[in-house]
Amino acid sequence: MLDKNLKNQLAQYLDMLKTEVVIGLSVNNDEKGEKVRGFIEDVASLSDKIKVEEKDLEYKPSFELKGEKEHGQIIFAGVPLGHEFASFALALLQVGGVEPKVDESTKKRIQAIKDTQNLETIVSLSCHNCPEVVQSFNIMAVLNPKINHTMIEGSMFQEIAEDRDVLAVPAIFKDGQFLEGGKQTMDSLLELIGSKKTSDDFEGKPAYDVLIIGGGPAAATAAVYAARKGVKTGLVASEFGGQVVETLGIENIPGFKYTEGPEFMAKMSEQVTELGVDVMTGALASDIKEAEHSANDLRLIEVKLDNGAKLESRTVVIATGARWRLIGIPGETEFRNKGVAYCTHCDGPLFKGKPVAVIGGGNSGIEAAIDLAAMVDHVTVLEFLPELKADQVLQDKLYGLDNVTVIKNAQTTGLYGDNKLERLKYTDRETNKEHSIDIDGCFIQVGLVPNTEWLEDTKVDLTDRGEIKVNPDGSTSLEGVFAAGDATTSLFKQIVIAAGSGATASLGAFNYLMRN
Ligand SMILES: Cc1cc2nc3c(=O)[nH]c(=O)nc-3n(C[C@H](O)[C@H](O)[C@H](O)COP(=O)(O)OP(=O)(O)OC[C@H]3O[C@@H](n4cnc5c(N)ncnc54)[C@H](O)[C@@H]3O)c2cc1C
Repeated sequence: MLDKNLKNQLAQYLDMLKTEVVIGLSVNNDEKGEKVRGFIEDVASLSDKIKVEEKDLEYKPSFELKGEKEHGQIIFAGVPLGHEFASFALALLQVGGVEPKVDESTKKRIQAIKDTQNLETIVSLSCHNCPEVVQSFNIMAVLNPKINHTMIEGSMFQEIAEDRDVLAVPAIFKDGQFLEGGKQTMDSLLELIGSKKTSDDFEGKPAYDVLIIGGGPAAATAAVYAARKGVKTGLVASEFGGQVVETLGIENIPGFKYTEGPEFMAKMSEQVTELGVDVMTGALASDIKEAEHSANDLRLIEVKLDNGAKLESRTVVIATGARWRLIGIPGETEFRNKGVAYCTHCDGPLFKGKPVAVIGGGNSGIEAAIDLAAMVDHVTVLEFLPELKADQVLQDKLYGLDNVTVIKNAQTTGLYGDNKLERLKYTDRETNKEHSIDIDGCFIQVGLVPNTEWLEDTKVDLTDRGEIKVNPDGSTSLEGVFAAGDATTSLFKQIVIAAGSGATASLGAFNYLMRN
């Protein structure tokens, strides 16, 4: 079941087990059951500390991990291979006595949860946003016996995915009821199950020299540059990772022929933390101004957060990036996770053998269409303009595929269905005629919008597209405040460009600190 490479990898991890782990196996004598049994037998053969016993669990085939210390239920229904293999290995180690890597305040939040939480996550093994959810819930279960979590592998439990109308993963259920879907972080999951982060978590912070707002490559690079200058550096972000964690294959970072977004940002996070940056996640900046008690000899910028806390710093680097643009048509939000999707790598496999549409004929739309064409029955690309805007090389590839239709001059007017998406309507802008296409999925790829609405009433000047105006040293119109990355007027929106501008802004801030 496990190839030699995976066995070697896992064997190295299992050397770290501190206590015995019992795997409770619940399978029928069928093909799926044999698959899971084979997987568990391979795993158990790698360590004396792993024991296997038969068990009767709700889902078959599934298995439960049980350590010596008291903890919540951790169950995997199906075989956790692909992107979930790491989730399985980590859960095994954590129930086997290896401390989960979470900061103290997160640990306290988890341990303070009093109500029983029966959580399930439906995943696909090719989904790169799923492991974060599975791993976070498993950590919660390890640290709090009231929290139970089951990972359900969608392709092995297709009937459950269909019964629950799951058309996007990860799909999170509590007591069998849909709770949330899509990319999540430990912070957002804790919020989801009712553990709010309060301003107390940010209390007593001294003024920073450089405070960075954001958690993408621009922010992370700014943090590395500031911390290496030896100045007191803080980083506050709604979550660490940014758009990069939505990207599976990255092939344009010099020095890396190929890397994957989550892996790349995990390395950045490690570097930032190891340099001693005070990383605060789970909060959004909501206002920025010169602090009232700021004086000539110590000018301070005050950043207000959405949880009510206030942070102060001598300089600030804003790197709040961008997010998917909505097109504002009926059905767009109603059918989110019920057919409307953004991430082809995550959700494409759920539309296997079905017809889908891609709205948007730019690079991201055409890349998505090419990606989807290999998984689904048929892709219809709808472009508003008379021509596709994607690079010629992508268009050539698209037109070489036989299960793709391109409709230009098409204004999508709405998405319709009963419980899930069934139809898309568009108007042909040449003839003014309305058309309808039957689809199961719709991937909206119409560009990005900068995360800068919170700056609209501040002294940080924005363009009419909402981008932060920056000078060559990264400085903005508010003295002491610098900006970088996709949130700014930077002409091209790419990882290395965001990282480079993060370095510029940080060095700009350091220059400012030396002169003031
Ligand atoms: C699907 C996809 C594929 C891509 N593929 C590639 C590729 O292959 N190569 C490449 O070079 N580029 C690629 N890009 C573009 C690249 O990811 C971006 O250019 C880059 O991530 C921008 O970095 P950033 O740090 O400016 O912002 P982001 O990555 O957008 O990060 C912004 C951060 O700020 C946080 N934030 C937002 N608002 C607030 C607030 N008010 N307070 C606190 N925090 C906040 C967010 O949580 C996030 O952590 C891709 C983008 C997407 C979406």
